Parts: sequence; structure tokens; C-alpha cells
Amino acid sequence: MSQLSTRIIPAYTDNYIFTVEDAENSNLVLVIDPGEASTLIKDLESRKNVKLKILITHHHWDHVDGLSELTQNFSCEVWGPEVSRNKVPEIQHGLKGGERLQIAGLHFDVLKLPGHTLDHLAYFEAEKGWLFSGDVLFRYGCGRLFEGDFSTAYQSLQQIKSLPDSTLVYCTHEYSQKNLEFSMAWAKKQQNQNLLKKLVEAHQEITALREKNQPTIPFLLGKDKMLNPFLLAQTPEEFKELRSARNNF
Ligand SMILES: [Zn+2]
Repeated sequence: MSQLSTRIIPAYTDNYIFTVEDAENSNLVLVIDPGEASTLIKDLESRKNVKLKILITHHHWDHVDGLSELTQNFSCEVWGPEVSRNKVPEIQHGLKGGERLQIAGLHFDVLKLPGHTLDHLAYFEAEKGWLFSGDVLFRYGCGRLFEGDFSTAYQSLQQIKSLPDSTLVYCTHEYSQKNLEFSMAWAKKQQNQNLLKKLVEAHQEITALREKNQPTIPFLLGKDKMLNPFLLAQTPEEFKELRSARNNF
């Protein structure tokens, strides 16, 4: 792929589906987490020979429910967690994490990031600096723990934190505003005026985008490393306290 562009397709109330497309090869589309199929099918119906390469981050319905319709309408190749192939039969290529995937000229490092779910993977393209993080890291927040424990989820966030500041994060949900409200309340409680001031500025920026109905995704990892309380947490215990407070916010 040479002239690549990413596209954000809203789905359900606050989900995003991402595509990567190549201006020079319009018959190949990379899709990440198609939670539903209708927008993509409508979009691509004029391109009869289009082939889809699909990456799945984890087994939750709002990330995989579009697969069966897409595979009926297009030639598809699907990668996703090996452990979830029984739940998601469309996954043809099972991944465990640690692999290097070459798809359509891109090179993805497959990161194993359990916590939100145990099967969770993320896809990092080092040259482009793109991270498709599913439901592990959100802008100014992180995913709820459905299957993993606090220390597992903390370690997964540390793994993301070790990626370059210039990484652009494509997360699957538009939770930035709510996450910021929590983060501001948290900073206030900690009497961290410096952080609070920066969060208030970020809140203005995010609110302006949302008022224009624009996504706040992708976002710069470096900025989140400075402002996201879940990335600022120094220990699994601190992370646990934060995550529990966020669950009740
Ligand atoms: Zn999920």
C-alpha cells in the first residue's frame, strides 16, 4: 500500500469501525473491528471486486457482529485471537500475540493486552505509528475489566505506555468526554492543580469537537501519557483504586 488513508465509520451509539484504504489499489480495504456491516456494505457496493482484510481485537459483539454479513458479501480474510475462534468462527487466522503480520504492505506487531477481556489483542504499525487499541486504552481513560484482574490490565497499559509518544491511537469507543469528566473529578480529589488545569483545557477542546459531531479519535499517545490518570498510575494498586472509582462514576 502506498497512498494510504484511514477512515472512521461510526457505528451503534459510540463505536468506531476503522478502515485503511489505498488510493492506488481501491480493491483492497483493511477493516478493524467491524461491529456492524451495513455502512461498509453500502459504501463498497459499487466496488464489486473489493477484498477485505479484517483485524479483530477481541470477541465482544460490538467488534465482531458485522463479520458474518461481510463474509457473505465480500471476499474476506480475517485475523483475530486464536482463543476466540470457537466464539467467532469467521476468524481464519488465529493470533496469540507476539506475531508480526504483513498485510497489504503494512507491518503490524500483534500485542497481547489482556484485562478488558482475556483474548484482547492490539495492532501496532510502527512505521505509520498507528495503534488499533480496541477497548484497552481510550482517550483519557481505559476499558472496563470484564475478564482480567487489575494487575493484568495494569501490565497491558504499561505495554502501551512503552510505545512512542508519536503513536496515533485508534480506540473503538467515543468515551473521551465522559472520561475527562471523571479525570477532572479525580485530579480535584487528589488536589493536583497542575493536572486539573490541563484536563480543563482538554475538556474544552474535546467539547468543541463533539459539538461539531466530530470524532476525538485518533489521539496522540504522548499527550495521553501526560493526562490520562490510568496511564499516570504508578502501581497496580493505584490503578485498581482509579478503575473502581471510574466504575462508580
Ligand atoms: Zn469490548
